Amino acid sequence: MKLIFPSTNKDSQMSNIKILDKEFELFIPYEKIRSVVEKMADKMNEDLAGKNPLFLCILNGSFMFAAEIFKRITLLDAEISFVKLASYAGTQSSGEIKELIGLNESLEGRTIIVLEDIVDTGITIDNTIKQIIAHNPAEVQVATLLLKPDALVKEVKLDYIGIEIPNDFIVGYGLDYDGRGRNLIDIFKVVE
Ligand code: 5GP
Ligand code: MG
Repeated sequence: MKLIFPSTNKDSQMSNIKILDKEFELFIPYEKIRSVVEKMADKMNEDLAGKNPLFLCILNGSFMFAAEIFKRITLLDAEISFVKLASYAGTQSSGEIKELIGLNESLEGRTIIVLEDIVDTGITIDNTIKQIIAHNPAEVQVATLLLKPDALVKEVKLDYIGIEIPNDFIVGYGLDYDGRGRNLIDIFKVVE
């Protein structure tokens, strides 16, 4: 598996941390995340010019990514809404089909940009896209901060991909381990 960024950062103060029963090590420092988010937002500003896009943040994991993308969207006609699927229990993707809740606005004829924290097997995003399409939008695009390409079991169209990572369990920057670790500004990976 190819790593496209250095997994350590000599400027970072934090290295190994313990959350509940697991040890995690620094994996993607915030500086790297920020530069990826900036590039992605720049591209979106170009691609979506002249449109009235509705960004959909998939809670809970995507809240930090969504905030950092959306504050860099300079289109005055952009909107954001927050929807939820089920939470992630433990360190394995459950694969269950979950209902999309909290959708208050009409998606009819809209350009929808789904903001997802991480695509692992692709089952969650595939299910999410299908539920969004049922509301008759004009188009649906997907932006994911992280992708585990080796874990994909679904063929999904990902329009914006931040960082490709190996199949390790990670926490931080909105992503949790049993509810903990979402407040970490860097991304950490589990030490097996
Ligand atoms: P998928 O359905 O693609 O297998 O999983 C997607 C969801 O599983 C993500 O939205 C996220 O909630 C969760 N997930 C997948 N991999 C990880 C991981 O490494 N860490 C955390 N905290 N959640 C993950
Ligand atoms: Mg998620």
